Amino acid sequence: MAVRRKYICKVVERLIKDQCIQAAPIFVEELARALGVEVQYQPADDKLSGFLIRDFKNHCAVIGVNSSHHKNRQRFTIAHELGHFLLHEGEKVHVDRIDYSFQVKLRNEDSSKGINLEEKEANYFAAELLMPASFLKKDLTNMEMLDLLDEEGLKKLADSYRVSTQALTFRLAYLGYIQL
Ligand SMILES: [Zn+2]
Repeated sequence: MAVRRKYICKVVERLIKDQCIQAAPIFVEELARALGVEVQYQPADDKLSGFLIRDFKNHCAVIGVNSSHHKNRQRFTIAHELGHFLLHEGEKVHVDRIDYSFQVKLRNEDSSKGINLEEKEANYFAAELLMPASFLKKDLTNMEMLDLLDEEGLKKLADSYRVSTQALTFRLAYLGYIQL
């Protein structure tokens, strides 16, 4: 099974349309709330990014975010957990840790493959949501391509989306605007 890129794009597109979001930055916490998901912040050890606790009966959930992390990273975590909420049937409690890859190695291969796929999909969803392709296209036509190769130009664009320059660089490369 591969990451369902087309399907995820559709889900994000619909979300942006339904919520009448027209420009970056995407306010992920407000978006989560509109979907019945409450966001809570708490400092935690560096390896914990966040978690998702679902209430299947009432179709709502709570996302926990590590408030010790950089604001941009917290936004990515919220978007990632929202991805699990919208894309995956999943378990009642889902925890995302950096040392996760180590944990999945302990499971049998088939189930770890499934888990890795869900993580990839949640990351893909987060990138799509925080940096929608259509928004980037619009912003980039107003921007000289030379600026994109300039670190300051890249940082400015990343700031307007409230994402890290690294996340933006990967996204631009994925969309074919730059080569890594
Ligand atoms: Zn995850």
